[in-house]
Amino acid sequence: MKPLDVIVVGAGYSGISAAYYLQRKGLNVKVLEVSSQVGGRARSDNMNGFTLDRGIHFYHHSTTELSKIIDLKKLELKNTYPGYLLRYEDTFNLFTNPLYQTLDTISTALAKNATFTDKIRLFGLYAKLKTTSYNKLVKENDSSTYEYLSKNGFSKKLINSFFRPMIAANIFDYNLQSSSRFSKVYLKSLFQDHVALPKEGIGKIATEIEKKLESDTILFKTKVKEVTEDGVLLTNGEFLESKFVVIATNAIDANNILNDKRIDAECSHVSTLYFSCDQAPVSKPVVMLNGDNGTTLVNHVFVPTCLHPEYAPNGKHLVAVSVVKDHDLDDDELMIKCLTELSGWFGLKVMDWFHLKTYHIKYAMPFKPILDKVEFTHQLSDSIFVCGDSMSVGSMESALRSGRETAALIAQQYTKGNSPKADFAAGI
Ligand SMILES: Cc1cc2nc3c(=O)[nH]c(=O)nc-3n(C[C@H](O)[C@H](O)[C@H](O)COP(=O)(O)OP(=O)(O)OC[C@H]3O[C@@H](n4cnc5c(N)ncnc54)[C@H](O)[C@@H]3O)c2cc1C
Repeated sequence: MKPLDVIVVGAGYSGISAAYYLQRKGLNVKVLEVSSQVGGRARSDNMNGFTLDRGIHFYHHSTTELSKIIDLKKLELKNTYPGYLLRYEDTFNLFTNPLYQTLDTISTALAKNATFTDKIRLFGLYAKLKTTSYNKLVKENDSSTYEYLSKNGFSKKLINSFFRPMIAANIFDYNLQSSSRFSKVYLKSLFQDHVALPKEGIGKIATEIEKKLESDTILFKTKVKEVTEDGVLLTNGEFLESKFVVIATNAIDANNILNDKRIDAECSHVSTLYFSCDQAPVSKPVVMLNGDNGTTLVNHVFVPTCLHPEYAPNGKHLVAVSVVKDHDLDDDELMIKCLTELSGWFGLKVMDWFHLKTYHIKYAMPFKPILDKVEFTHQLSDSIFVCGDSMSVGSMESALRSGRETAALIAQQYTKGNSPKADFAAGI
């Protein structure tokens, strides 16, 4: 193998983005990936003709990083319904994103679970988030999301029946304990644009980026055991030398290969259960939220085949059921509990649904009780860099940006002295 300029550990969005930008600068790069696919957390599996995303993901149209790398037309994106179907006290309420509707629509949409004051405050929150830049939002006073919503006058009823499941569906924080800055960033991006899914699953995004890399850039089924200043040690005992190493894994895996707890690894988790059925339980491609609290476990439900029938074989539908709250059920018990709850939503026909697979995603997104700094790249030593979503907010956008900014920093140091140690000694 040619001597390597950069080894990137992990072929998630941040890793392949870093590799793409480094190769454009002419550096010799290899990406080492433990699994057999690109995309990391946002990848898809094919199972008997069903496309199973590793948890329901959406592409946000307001983001800008992806279109710098690929032609978005290749994704054949289709937009979901702009809003939520909220299950509350045994009925469904269609809650449409007010930016696409009139004030009148909002006030009727949340008829059951919001007071009149809630509706007015909700519209005020939309207006504020729409007109405040991301940069400004991350500098506003920080508190827990719950405290922020309470202080802004939202009723407990609306917080519990709407904000909890909605925030849990997006950042997996049912307890509303994450930083309000963090939640506001998410809410802004949810409120201000449409979200969409590629026809061939969310994993299609990463496979399109992979096509932009030089051939044989990624070594699959290759697990890094340890990172050093001079390269990486693989679990098979082989040592690969390089001038720079980029750790583009989640924070827990990063700490493991660093043999140290150098990166904040608090995170949220989610489980997604996939079922197949003959008839879709809804007709719209809309995320359904569970607004009833108590002992229920289902947080949200989405039917990808209402958007892209290609997610399932002909004549079949695919249903994704997500659970965010903690529980101690095993897989069978969890499946039965979810189906029992959903029989209250859709009737006993759910008992005919066929369980395809359950994904338990232990590191879903970084959990930030306080968002004191937002970084997209971090240099740990002369030659070791960290990128990925763990330093900012969990999203494909921040992972891609993080890869790009890390590549720029490395390329700068590479060009200046072609020796990172010399650069540091010179105080660059
Ligand atoms: C269920 C769910 C839904 C989400 N929904 C959205 C959404 O709608 N929109 C959005 O923008 N974001 C969403 N996200 C967040 C988004 O998926 C992540 O922020 C993003 O994918 C993180 O990319 P990453 O490159 O930082 O890390 P990862 O995707 O975690 O990539 C790390 C890679 O490193 C590999 N690796 C780990 N250890 C090693 C090792 N020792 N050796 C070699 N390889 C290793 C892993 O296999 C993996 O491929 C969601 C996340 C989840 C879990």
